[in-house]
Amino acid sequence: MSESEVDVAIIGGGLVGASLALALAPTGLKTALIEVVAPDANAQPSFDDRTTALGNGTRRSFEALGIWSQVTLRAAPIRRIHVSDAGRFGFARLEANECGIEAFGYVVTNRMLGTALRSAISNLPNLDLRMPAKCTGVVLHEQGVELATEPAASLLRARLVVAADGADSKVRAAAGLAASIEDYRQVAIVSHVRSSRSADGTAYERFTAQGPFAVLPLFDGAYGVVWTLAPEAAERVLAFTDEDYLAALQREFGWRIGSLLSVGKRNAYPLRLSRAETLTGQRVVLIGNAAQGLHPVAGQGFNLGLRDAATLAELLAEVARRHGRAADVGASQVLQEFASRRSADREGVTRFTDGLVKLFGDTRPGVPLLRDLSLLLFDLSPTAKQALSRLSWGFAGRTPRLGRGLGVML
Ligand SMILES: Cc1cc2nc3c(=O)[nH]c(=O)nc-3n(C[C@H](O)[C@H](O)[C@H](O)COP(=O)(O)OP(=O)(O)OC[C@H]3O[C@@H](n4cnc5c(N)ncnc54)[C@H](O)[C@@H]3O)c2cc1C
Repeated sequence: MSESEVDVAIIGGGLVGASLALALAPTGLKTALIEVVAPDANAQPSFDDRTTALGNGTRRSFEALGIWSQVTLRAAPIRRIHVSDAGRFGFARLEANECGIEAFGYVVTNRMLGTALRSAISNLPNLDLRMPAKCTGVVLHEQGVELATEPAASLLRARLVVAADGADSKVRAAAGLAASIEDYRQVAIVSHVRSSRSADGTAYERFTAQGPFAVLPLFDGAYGVVWTLAPEAAERVLAFTDEDYLAALQREFGWRIGSLLSVGKRNAYPLRLSRAETLTGQRVVLIGNAAQGLHPVAGQGFNLGLRDAATLAELLAEVARRHGRAADVGASQVLQEFASRRSADREGVTRFTDGLVKLFGDTRPGVPLLRDLSLLLFDLSPTAKQALSRLSWGFAGRTPRLGRGLGVML
C-alpha cells in the first residue's frame, strides 16, 4: 500500500470543497482533494442543472480567486425581486438600484460553476488531486489523521481533514459528530424553461401552501424554475409529459413571463434541514453541506458554505504564515477559532431560512393575514429592503478576507 502525507485533506470536491482547494493555493500548504466522481462525469451531483444565485460576497470571493471573469460570462444579474403570497394579496418588490447595489445576486448553473472551479484547480502545484477516488476510512489521532482511499488502496496522512462531503457526510459520522435532520416533506423540482418573454433580470419568489416557487433569470434569456411540492404531488408532476408539465407550471405561476414554450430535463431534490451540532472535532472540520444543509428558499446554502471555506482558508493561511513548515493546521486552538468565527453567520442564516419556510407554510387562522400585511409593510419600507439586501454579503459576524475581495494571505 502506498503512503503519502499532506497538511490538509479535503474530502469532497463539490462546489464548496473545490472552492476551498482553490482558496488554499497561495498558502503553500500541501493539500489533497479526494472526490469520488470523475472530473468529466456529467453525473457529478454537485455540478448538475440546478441554478445557484451567487450573492455579492460570493462574487467578491470569486473575483479574488480569479474565476469571476469566467463565471460572469454566463451569469444573469438579479436586478429586481418580486415576492408574493400565492392566491392572496401580500406582495413586495425589491429594486437593486434602490438598495445601492448593481444586483442582489447572479444566477449561474451549478454545471458551469463546477466547470470553472474544476479547471482552476486542475493544475495547482501544492494540490494532490485525487478524482475519481473515494475516501473509505477515517482514523483520527491526537497528532494527525489517517485516510484510506480507493481505488489504488493508499494511505493518506494529514494534519487536518476537512469534511466537504455533503449533507450525508461520512467523515462527520466517522468523527462521531452528531447532526440533527429535519425533513420538510417538500421536494424541489428544478428545470430550465423558455417562454415567449426573455428573462430581464427579474426573479420571482411565490410562496404557495405546498412550498416556495422560484423563477430565476438565466444568462441566455431562459428561466431556472424551482417548484416545491409535497412529495406525493411531486411524484405525480414528475411523471407528466413535458407538455402537461408546462401547462401545470403556467397554471401555477400565471402569465408574468409570457407563455411557457419548452422545458429541459427535470431533477428532484427532497428538502431537509441538516445541522451538525458542532463544526469541529479532533483534527476534523465540517464545511458546506456537511456542516449545514439548508432549504433553498432564500438561495443561501452555497453562499454560506463558501464563507465556511473562505474563513477556513484565511485561518490556515495565518497559521502557515506564522509557523511555516512547522504549522499545525489541525491544532485544537485553530479549530476552535474557526468554529467561533463561523458561529453568528451560520446560526443567523439557518434560522432565517428555516423561519421563512415555516412562516409561509403556516396556515393557522390569522397567520396568512399577518404575513400579507407584513409583506405590504415591507414593500413600503426602504430601510427593511436595505437590511434584506445586506444578506447578499453575509448575515453576521466577521466577513472573511475573500468576501471583501482580498486574497487569503495578509
Ligand atoms: C434545488 C436547490 C437549489 C439551490 N439553490 C441555491 C442557491 O440559489 N444559492 C445557494 O447559495 N445555494 C443553493 N442551493 C444549495 C447548494 O446547492 C448547496 O449548498 C451546495 O451545492 C453544497 O455544496 P457542497 O460542496 O457542500 O456539497 P455537495 O454538493 O453535496 O458536494 C459533496 C461532494 O462530496 C463528494 N463525496 C461524498 N462522499 C465522498 C467520499 N466518501 N469520498 C470522496 N468524495 C465524496 C460528492 O461526490 C460531492 O461531489 C440549492 C440547493 C438545492 C437542492
